[in-house]
Amino acid sequence: MIIRFRCPGCRTELEFDDLSQQRSPCPVCDRQVTLQVTDAMRGRNQVDRCALCDCETVYVQKDFNRTLGVGIFIAGAVISLVLYGFDQVWWAFAVLLGCAVMDGLLYRLLPDVTICYKCHAQYRRFTPRPENLPFELGLAEKFDPLDKRAEADNPAAEWHGR
Ligand SMILES: [Zn+2]
Ligand SMILES: [Zn+2]
Repeated sequence: MIIRFRCPGCRTELEFDDLSQQRSPCPVCDRQVTLQVTDAMRGRNQVDRCALCDCETVYVQKDFNRTLGVGIFIAGAVISLVLYGFDQVWWAFAVLLGCAVMDGLLYRLLPDVTICYKCHAQYRRFTPRPENLPFELGLAEKFDPLDKRAEADNPAAEWHGR
């Protein structure tokens, strides 16, 4: 499993993959970042909670590079417009269709990434865990409220759920 997170000190993106360790020094600001690596992470390679902020709810999504997906689509649209300009209507259509198929295939082949609702730490190359569900907006608001002053938990978010 690879954990990617932002250093709480300097916000640099860091990667952590040695699960036998409980802390990792930031190469930029030298701060020791503590990680709560659980037994499930060590033993089964599963994300059962966030190692950075101890949040118990994480979500799973496709590790889809939006820029790449949109790039393929734009390239396809441009090529097909050019072909259309040269009266190659069927080819123009075929290129568009080809790009849609490619995007679809890419999406299927891509691995999943697990993300913490609270601190947005990302976990890759893990064993899937059925309890971890896709993103839910309601949960995102609960764990990552808009009021981010001092990055404290928003107590109002808790009352809301009761
Ligand atoms: Zn740092
Ligand atoms: Zn977290």
